[in-house]
Amino acid sequence: MQEKAKPSDFDWENLGFSYHDLPYRYRVTYENGEWGEGGLTEDSNLVMSEATPSLHYGQQIFEGMKAYRRKDGGINLFRPDENSKRMNRSASRLLMPAFPTDRFIEAVKKVVLANEEFVPPYGSGATLYIRPLMIAVDSVVGVQPGKKYILNIYVTPVGPYFKGGLIPTAFVTSLYDRAAHGGTGQSKVGGNYAASLYPGQKAHSDGYSDVVYLDPTEHEYIEELGSANFFGITKMGQLLTPKSPSILPSITKLSVLTLAEKMGLKPAQVQISINDIDEFSEAGAMGTAAVISPVGSITHNGEKHVFYSETEPGPVTLKLYNQLTGIQFGDVEGPDGWVVDLGK
Ligand SMILES: *Cc1c(COP(=O)(O)O)cnc(C)c1O
Repeated sequence: MQEKAKPSDFDWENLGFSYHDLPYRYRVTYENGEWGEGGLTEDSNLVMSEATPSLHYGQQIFEGMKAYRRKDGGINLFRPDENSKRMNRSASRLLMPAFPTDRFIEAVKKVVLANEEFVPPYGSGATLYIRPLMIAVDSVVGVQPGKKYILNIYVTPVGPYFKGGLIPTAFVTSLYDRAAHGGTGQSKVGGNYAASLYPGQKAHSDGYSDVVYLDPTEHEYIEELGSANFFGITKMGQLLTPKSPSILPSITKLSVLTLAEKMGLKPAQVQISINDIDEFSEAGAMGTAAVISPVGSITHNGEKHVFYSETEPGPVTLKLYNQLTGIQFGDVEGPDGWVVDLGK
């Protein structure tokens, strides 16, 4: 077995977003129509058939969540029940088995606590990223679902998305689509990301942070920002976020909608035309990795539209960021049930 990471390997204040082989991961197998007992393992390699439909036909789903170190030294999870529900919706779309929510939350707790010394300290801005993955592992040749699956949950410490604080970044629209209406845009599946690699890399090499995907039929309405959902604050102070059958329902967005309601921002999910973005005084990206990141500008058809500022986050974006991260790190009381205390 390869060398495992040690806590002393990490400079918590300067973590990037990369994989580290920590001591433990959770793994459970589905076979003969049921999930096995499962448990922690030190083996970071997965074994599967060369003919598995996860490799050939993309029968694969995943989730992304974080564990947060509180000021009192304890650890919080943020809405893990929502990740479980979404994973089961993705599973259903790809003809994969559901994994019970109580078992999912227990498994996440177990793997985080087993790697507890790798949960970054409070105040470092870093967190422990949690990556559940479900794949078919048995053999098929024709296009059909597998019968045997592995659910694996690994964790790895990650730094904040933006090291220097909340710095706005530039986005660009693309003629490529990540998902079709009626496709798998609402499911967290690797296939959507496979489709986004090329346009994403092109945007990076052109100097942008990521792509603004537009709707796949008319290429007019905003869908998503790379791997995050979009919001805009209108000049009247309303928070709008896109409504579409092909975007991934972000749990960060779900939470922002609740917080925005309390802040009097009258949030609404509506179609947002790329031609109307000058109506927004602020814009941002929402996701577990992005948290809430200000969008400085969007370039569309060669024309750059700047929102609040290209160097400073707007006041509403900042307020939403402080509310959300305050709840996640346990400094601010959130709505009932949002935070799960790992009891450490
Ligand atoms: C995971 C993901 C998001 C963000 O969802 P969260 O639940 O907030 O982390 C947004 N868009 C895509 C395409 C995603 O895969």
